[in-house]
Amino acid sequence: MEAETKRSYSEKDQDYLWHGMKPYQANGTPLIAESGKGSWFTDTAGKRYFDGVSGLWCLNLGHGQEEIIEAAANQMKSLAYFPLSFGHKPAIDLAEKLSELLGGGYRSFFANGGSDANETAFKIARQHHKQSGNPEKTKIISRYRAYHGNSLGALAATAQANRKIKYDVNVPGFVHIPPPYAYRSSFGSYEEDDLRAAEYLEQTILWEGAETVAAFIMEPIISGGGVIHPQSDIYYKKVREICTRYNVLLILDEVVSGFGRTGKVFGYMHGDGFFPDIITLAKGLTAGYLPLGATCVHESIYQSFKTNGTTNHFRHISTYGGHPASCAVALKTIEIIERDQLVNRVARLEQTILRKLHALTSYSFVGDVRGIGFLYGIELVKDKQTKEPLSDETIKTIVAACQKKGLIIGKNGDTVPSGGNVLIIAPPLTSTEDDLTFLVKTLNEVFSETDKEASSY
Ligand code: PMP
Repeated sequence: MEAETKRSYSEKDQDYLWHGMKPYQANGTPLIAESGKGSWFTDTAGKRYFDGVSGLWCLNLGHGQEEIIEAAANQMKSLAYFPLSFGHKPAIDLAEKLSELLGGGYRSFFANGGSDANETAFKIARQHHKQSGNPEKTKIISRYRAYHGNSLGALAATAQANRKIKYDVNVPGFVHIPPPYAYRSSFGSYEEDDLRAAEYLEQTILWEGAETVAAFIMEPIISGGGVIHPQSDIYYKKVREICTRYNVLLILDEVVSGFGRTGKVFGYMHGDGFFPDIITLAKGLTAGYLPLGATCVHESIYQSFKTNGTTNHFRHISTYGGHPASCAVALKTIEIIERDQLVNRVARLEQTILRKLHALTSYSFVGDVRGIGFLYGIELVKDKQTKEPLSDETIKTIVAACQKKGLIIGKNGDTVPSGGNVLIIAPPLTSTEDDLTFLVKTLNEVFSETDKEASSY
């Protein structure tokens, strides 16, 4: 026991902890966090870092939000746990609040996180069609580059090859289409990319047979897949029209884009007349303080679960989905976002930050800078003409150099077809202007060192 306590956390980490998304490193020195305040955290060696990705795009209000901590503690003191086959006050209050934020008419099913919320959405879509006289409507269409979760159904909808190859994700009934991605248009034209990408959805529904398609799932802005978004709201408008025309439910995965991340309460609000049949939420819903997911469903769909006595109810539950403390934390998170007008703050600061990030295109290897609100992607290329991705090795060196200077940034994990060559930046919505200045300054320092090294070859 004595010997064990003397071992450093780095040593113990090597022996016991299995890290997600990271290869085993025999002599690795993993970053082990100990405490946090605002947008910064401190590791076990006492070094401070600015968290430029809000953990995994979830720690939207930063560390140390006393009111949230109190809300969790108070809820645990009054009711530690209760399942949602029955009800409890914080879940009911939260479901009411979410419906209000969505403009009314939505009912919430609570889950553990984003994957679970998406699995729930797929099952609701399939069951809804089955009990509405369309039993063959089972297929789910999703978009390449999207991430929808780690469980097999959510992973089947995820269209990033490298995350799936080793798991035989041959789940029937999942079909992928390209997203609008002007920088690397699948349709050959920057100007018409949005329109062609939307038309491709219609073609796919027809090719598959509209009577077999249950739902189309999309993130309003692809986040982990490389911050990919349409150029205008024509894409959103067309997608909504197409889904309505073919009775295909539109599921919006707002796990990352919800709760102010994009400068609107929800990402779908960037599209005029764009609205979800089902919306899935997690991450920013609790600002990362506790796990929670939500699948919010329009009443028009819930109708089919109300009919036929006991046969049409939803046979689905998870032990911790809608945990009372998580719901209390979500309610407090939303209260803070509204009270402190954080959505407006993000929208106000967006242009200033984007302008500074756009200036990074002066570096020889920065092909594209894009984003919205507090969610940015910087696509790195070897050659701006051919758009050949910068080597994985150089990108890893850039991420490591940022970390050395106390800045944590992310990178997309996919490698097909453009490589994991997009740096992802998504700071907490509460980051101060000084924090954001540090972010841009550090990127400039690291990029200029990379440019110097590249020109010395
Ligand atoms: N959807 C999106 C868009 C996500 O980014 C993620 C997680 N990164 C998920 C779903 C899955 O969420 P979770 O990790 O909470 O299961």
